[in-house]
Amino acid sequence: MTKPLNQLSIVEAASGLRAKDFSVRDLWDACMAEAVAKNEELNVFLELFDANEEAIAAAQQRIDTEGEGAPLLCGIPIAMKDNILIEGHVASAASKMLENYTATYDATVTAKLKEAGALFIGRTNMDEFAMGSSTEHSAFGSTRNPLDPTRVPGGSSGGSSAAVAANMALAALGTDTGGSIRQPAAHCGLVGFKPTYGAISRHGLIALGSSLDQAGPLTHTVEDAKILFDVMKGEDSMDATTIPADFCATKTSAAKKRIGVPYHLLASGVDEDVRARFDETLEKFKEEGYEICEVQLPTSPYALPAYYVVMPAEASANLARFDGIRYGNGGKGKDLLEDYVIAKTEGFGHETKRRILLGTFVLSSGYIDAYYRKAQSARGALIAEYDKAFEEVDVIAFPTTPSPAFKFGEKSDPVSMYLEDVFTVTANLTGMPAISVPMGMVERDGVQLPTGIHFTAPKCQDELLFKMGGMVTGEEIY
Ligand code: GLN
Repeated sequence: MTKPLNQLSIVEAASGLRAKDFSVRDLWDACMAEAVAKNEELNVFLELFDANEEAIAAAQQRIDTEGEGAPLLCGIPIAMKDNILIEGHVASAASKMLENYTATYDATVTAKLKEAGALFIGRTNMDEFAMGSSTEHSAFGSTRNPLDPTRVPGGSSGGSSAAVAANMALAALGTDTGGSIRQPAAHCGLVGFKPTYGAISRHGLIALGSSLDQAGPLTHTVEDAKILFDVMKGEDSMDATTIPADFCATKTSAAKKRIGVPYHLLASGVDEDVRARFDETLEKFKEEGYEICEVQLPTSPYALPAYYVVMPAEASANLARFDGIRYGNGGKGKDLLEDYVIAKTEGFGHETKRRILLGTFVLSSGYIDAYYRKAQSARGALIAEYDKAFEEVDVIAFPTTPSPAFKFGEKSDPVSMYLEDVFTVTANLTGMPAISVPMGMVERDGVQLPTGIHFTAPKCQDELLFKMGGMVTGEEIY
């Protein structure tokens, strides 16, 4: 094989392992060497794990004895976002509040990956508690985009996307509450997939917005994303919102051969060259016999404001547990109240505090009708509009982000940062699955930067997104 081992896709690595071209240990060492070499510059990992010799040996043995029967993930080094619990490891959500918190159990996704024989290479940097679109809100410094270190990798799963883009791991897990898998995937030239809400268990993820959160893969190829999804999906008694695995496995065809585009949302705000890549990508579908249709989604302009009400509301409730007593650095005040105040003041960063304040405000008795309930009705209207559009089209497409990766500090005004999510939040508000796939490069300051095309499918039609994504990357899926 000509490619360095750390640059392989999961599928390529799995086949090389089975052919005995290299060992599990070789693959681990190749990724770890790259991670060690680049981490100081890029700040991708908050912690690189020691080699788990037992797990490496067990994976090798399984491949040796089971061959093709071994799971494809067996022996594959994976990077994990720092808000996904791995028993015995720190899970800090990139917050000072949880700097010393060690997970006492595995998240369901962690347990499923372990069962498939995957190896964890380390925990990746992120925006604190997954609040952000750039990984600049980490308490432990920003992560740099490997394609242009003067730019952000996107966020909040910026460490996970940078880990894969820099070939420090073959794939990574992120979490997506409003775009945090898809947006960094677009900024780093990767595939990022957010499943149907409930397709993957949230048990053992550090909760942000419970009605919005989903874990999902960041990978080089669509096929790799599907492999990770297939291993992680399914009902879980620890998360009552999960749905049976076969719900998301049945409908694979684009029966109508129609792609809907809400052109009215693209008229302004999308960079010209990003728009050009988008139009060119859709042309490819036309050549395959697809029709591109305009769809009207009139409530869409309210999606972002609705998200930035619902999400902080849920975050303020979820983060109440971090009080310095049950979690965090308590015991510094002269009484309980002062304890709370000191622990939260010291433990949380600016963005986290801003969202807790905002969330508490929109839930308060004088304002809940004006803000929270209005946002929830916008959510209902969005679901109805998308459902209606899906009577006519198979999927809805737009660019994942209006622009490519931006420079550090460029979006220091919170509202300009929030606008990064204008296209991604709706899939979380509606619970629908969505994927971002690389759609070509644009140039900024003499550097080529990736862009992403985003497809949303009806609930439980996750498989359809792999098919559509594969058509963009040239992978034949189904
Ligand atoms: N960028 C969005 C936010 O700041 C989305 C975050 C996420 O998906 N975790 O809330």
